[in-house]
Amino acid sequence: AEAELIRIQRFESLAMLAGGLSHDLRNLLQPLLLAGDSLQDYQDDPRLARLGALVRDCGRRGLEMVQSMLSFARGARRAEQVKVQALIDALSLLLQGSVPRTVTLDIDVADPQLTFEGNHTELQQCLLNLCLNAIQAMPNGGMLRVTTRKAKLEQSFILEHEDAQPGDYVCLTVTDTGIGMAEEVRRRLFEPFFTTKDGGTGLGLLSCRRIVYSHGGVMRMDSIVGEGTCFDLYIPLARPVIEAAHPVDSDANLHGN
Ligand code: ADP
Repeated sequence: AEAELIRIQRFESLAMLAGGLSHDLRNLLQPLLLAGDSLQDYQDDPRLARLGALVRDCGRRGLEMVQSMLSFARGARRAEQVKVQALIDALSLLLQGSVPRTVTLDIDVADPQLTFEGNHTELQQCLLNLCLNAIQAMPNGGMLRVTTRKAKLEQSFILEHEDAQPGDYVCLTVTDTGIGMAEEVRRRLFEPFFTTKDGGTGLGLLSCRRIVYSHGGVMRMDSIVGEGTCFDLYIPLARPVIEAAHPVDSDANLHGN
C-alpha cells in the first residue's frame, strides 16, 4: 500500500504539471495553426505555401500531443467500486504510526455499506493528505475527526466552475481543532507550491482537489483561526452498486450471452 501511495503521489505531481502545461500550450498552438492555414492560402507563392503546410503540420502534431497530455492529466484511471468502510479502514491503518499521543483520533462512519464508483487509492491518498495536514496543524495536540455520511447536494451549492451535478453524495469530512487559517492562507490554499511549512510541498491540497474533481465531486473548507479547520469532500454516489442478492442472477450472468 505504501509503494502504491508513493506511485499515486508521483502521478499526481505529474498530472498537475501536465494539466497546467497542456492548457497553456494549447492556447499557444491554436493561433499558430490558424497562421499556418492562412499561409497555405498563398498558392501562387510555393515557398509560402510550403511554409504554411509546415507550420500547420507541426502545430497539429503539437495539439495532438497536448490533447493526450490533457487526457492523461484528467486521469484515465480504472474506475472501481469503492466501499466507504474499506476506505476508512485503510486510512486508519495508514494513520496508525502518524497520530501523536497528544492527538485523539475519532472516526465515525454513519453509513458503512455505502458504495460508489471511483478510485480507492486516490481517495485514500486524498484523505491521508488532509489528515496529515490536520495533525500538523495541532502541534499542541487536539482532536482529529474523520466522519462519513450521505448528503444531498442542491444545484445552488455547486459553483460555476465545478462539474458536479445535484444529487446524492457521500460526504467525507476531516476536522481538526488546530491553529486554523488566516485569511491570507485561505486565499492561497490551492496555489501550487503555496506552503507555510518548512519542507512543505504546497501540492497536497491541489492534488486533493484534482482527485475530488476527477470524481465529479466538490470540496469545501471552513476554518477559524485558533479553533480549527474542516474539509468536506463530496463524492457522487451516482452509480451505486446493488450487491447481488440472488446468486441465481449472477450465475445467469456467467453463462449468459
Ligand atoms: P503543504 O502541506 O505541503 O504545505 P498543502 O497544499 O497540503 O501543502 O497545504 C498548503 C497550506 O495550507 C499549508 O502549508 C498550511 O498553511 C495550510 N493548511 C492546510 N491544511 C491545514 C489545516 N488543517 N490547518 C491549518 N492550515 C492548513
